[in-house]
Amino acid sequence: MGKVWFVGAGPGDPDLITVKGRALIQQAGAILYAGSLVSAAALRWAPAGCEIGDSKGMTLPEISDWLKTRAAQHATVVRLQTGDPTLYGSLLELVQPLDAAGIALEVVPGVSSALAAAAAAVESLTLPEVTQTVILTRVEGRTPMPSGEALADLAAHHTTLCLFLSITLLQRVREALLAAGWSDDSPVLVVQKASWPGQQRIVRGSLADIRERCRAEQIHEQAMIIVSPTLGARHWPELRHSKLYDPTFRHRYRGGPPPREVQP
Ligand code: SAH
Repeated sequence: MGKVWFVGAGPGDPDLITVKGRALIQQAGAILYAGSLVSAAALRWAPAGCEIGDSKGMTLPEISDWLKTRAAQHATVVRLQTGDPTLYGSLLELVQPLDAAGIALEVVPGVSSALAAAAAAVESLTLPEVTQTVILTRVEGRTPMPSGEALADLAAHHTTLCLFLSITLLQRVREALLAAGWSDDSPVLVVQKASWPGQQRIVRGSLADIRERCRAEQIHEQAMIIVSPTLGARHWPELRHSKLYDPTFRHRYRGGPPPREVQP
C-alpha cells in the first residue's frame, strides 16, 4: 500500500515548489493536479511512465477514489494543490476518506498566493508600528462566512487583509471596508496570476476605483486582493525600522545581553 502526499505546488511559477515537493514528484507513480491554477509546468519533473491526471471536472468522491486506487498500485501518489494545501483547498474532505481506508498520507506546505502577490509587488505585509497582523480571508460568496467573520468585522482591526476568491466581489469589499472605517482612498493591490511566468499582472488603485481598474484590465479570476496600511511603504520617506536592526537594540549575536525577544 502506497502513501498519498498532498503537495503545495506554489502559486504558479514551477520554481516555487519546495525541494521536497519536487523530489516527491520525481518519484511519483501517479500525480493528480488541481485544474488550471497549477501550472502544468510543475509536472515537468514527473518521471517517464508516471500517470498524470487533472482533477478539473471531478467531484470530491471521484478525486478520493482516484487517490485510493492509485495508492494501491504505487508507493508514492501525489495530490498537487495550488499554493499551500491548507488554505481553501478541500484538504480534509480528501483526507477523511483516505483515513477511513487506512491509507497513509502527509502534507507538504507550499508558497501561498497571498505571499507570492506581496512579493510580486515588493510589499511588506507587516511593518513595525503600522500593522503586525495579517488576516487571510475571503468575501462571502457561495460559502457562507461563520459568524463574527464578516469582512466588515475583520476589517475593523485595520490590519493587512489578503482576500482570496473575491476578485468578482470588489464592490462588497469596498462596502465592508467603508463600514469598518477605511477611507475610499485607501490603497488596494490586486495581483493576477502572481508568479506565473509571463502572465502576472499587478493593478494598484484605491477602494473607490480598484473595481473599475480591474474591469478595464479584464481581471476577474485567479487574483489576490491585498488591502493594507502598509501598501506603498517602499516609497515612504520615513520608515520605522524593525527593532532587530536597531543599533541600540543589542543582543547576544552582537555582544549584548540576550534580548527578551529576538524576533523582528
Ligand atoms: N491554496 C491556495 C488558494 C486556493 S483558493 C493558496 O494558498 O494560494 C484560489 C484563490 O487563490 C484564487 O481565487 C485567488 O484568489 C488565489 N490565487 C491562487 N493562485 C493565485 C495566483 N497565482 N495569483 C493570485 N491569486 C491566486
